[in-house]
Amino acid sequence: MLSVIIPAYNEQDNVENTAKVISGILDEAGIEYELMFVDDGSSDATWSIIERLSDENGSIRGLHFSRNFGKEGAIFAGLRRCTGDCAVVIDCDLQHPPELIPEMVKLHEQGFEVVEAVKSSRGKESLLYKMFAKWFYRIMKSSSNVDLDRASDFKLMDRKVIDALNDLPERITFFRALSSWVGFRSTKIEFEVAPRKAGVSKWNFGKLFTFAVNNITSFTNFPMQLVTGMGIIFLIFAVILGVQSLVRFFSGTAQEGFTTVYLVILLAASMIMIGLGVIGYYMSKIYEEIKFRPRYIISIDTKDKERKERKETSTTDGENG
Ligand code: UDP
Ligand code: MG
Repeated sequence: MLSVIIPAYNEQDNVENTAKVISGILDEAGIEYELMFVDDGSSDATWSIIERLSDENGSIRGLHFSRNFGKEGAIFAGLRRCTGDCAVVIDCDLQHPPELIPEMVKLHEQGFEVVEAVKSSRGKESLLYKMFAKWFYRIMKSSSNVDLDRASDFKLMDRKVIDALNDLPERITFFRALSSWVGFRSTKIEFEVAPRKAGVSKWNFGKLFTFAVNNITSFTNFPMQLVTGMGIIFLIFAVILGVQSLVRFFSGTAQEGFTTVYLVILLAASMIMIGLGVIGYYMSKIYEEIKFRPRYIISIDTKDKERKERKETSTTDGENG
């Protein structure tokens, strides 16, 4: 069976249509499936629609978060609770073409354990966003060997991969990179990013910036190395300056040189601040991880609800009989 994991945050205009489109495609291809909508604490009608859909259709299941935990949390909740032999993660706004799923399943049957759908182009994005994304992916690639430029969250994973991801102890996760980090036999297929079906994107620049910094620091020590590198360059600089001022002192030509002093102080101070900032960032990561907080809290699972209802009816039956 295939589990389709669909994170949804304020997607009331999309869920119903998305469910219809995906189940239509899978029914036609004769693939056995469950659709798992993970409602990431939406504040609109998303959850009530998911509940209704799951009442109507036995192969639709919904998880409801107690608040908004972010897409990462939603993906990992889906991975943990899904029951399929393999799982596909797909966006709720149909920007990831579900027509590809049968093809991905076919590749899985051929023995691939991870089927990654990569963007053939990056779609319509603003110039700033493009520059930012490029910079982010370059750092990630050069320092952690994870090529993410065209990667997306649209992937098929075998049960083995799902279990490996579920076994990872860390709580600050980056699905896109972790799913290649765990390894396994993988292949890629390309897709064209479609425009959003309805609603608006939930990202803004601030959110994206935090996302990038978070993922860079949880995947690499590059910023710390950069600071060390700058420190070394600065040390060389300081030695040269020191020698020069000593020479001047002994030859009796040393008087002015305040500019150098300013420069040195400013440079040193900024270097120290950057260094402290970077170290502080990594320390906050350690702090986050050490708290052992869950990365999401599920308040309702439609599957549990069914079970509870069944139990309730059986106990009433018991009392009557
Ligand atoms: N999403 C989520 N939690 C969030 C933000 C987004 O579960 O806090 C889901 C959203 O419902 C969608 C997917 O993540 O299914 C991608 O979000 P979006 O379309 O806003 O991002 P974009 O496609 O612009 O990268
Ligand atoms: Mg989208």
